[in-house]
Amino acid sequence: MQPCELCGKYPSAKVVDVEGSTMSVCQACTSFGTIIEQPTVVQKKVRTVEPEQSVVGNFSSLIKQSRESKQMTQHEFSQFVAVKESTIHQLETGNLTPSLEQATKLARKLGIRLVETIEHTKVKVASSKEKDLTIGDILELGK
Ligand SMILES: [Zn+2]
Repeated sequence: MQPCELCGKYPSAKVVDVEGSTMSVCQACTSFGTIIEQPTVVQKKVRTVEPEQSVVGNFSSLIKQSRESKQMTQHEFSQFVAVKESTIHQLETGNLTPSLEQATKLARKLGIRLVETIEHTKVKVASSKEKDLTIGDILELGK
């Protein structure tokens, strides 16, 4: 931090216009000139994609179709996929929604798709102090 251009005692805190010239002065000396606001433009758009996995809505009919295509009873099927028979029954009737882990395992075993990926796109906009720069300001700051 450079010292105040007017008194030299304190670090400069503001940029002021003193009779046409731009000077960095301390807080105490700002009264000698006109404060030139230094615009800060901060605008950020943060786009994040969060993939989320979920079990497909028609899992029950997919499981049932898969079993029927293999011509298996629920009992045989339960042994094939290593899932309790009662669970198979509940899955086929839609009374039980498989966990993601369970659905993934079943899907792999059966060669069907039971898990879908939903992408949520979030756009965050962060902005702070905004001030339009005029040509005059730019020339003034460039001195
Ligand atoms: Zn000063």
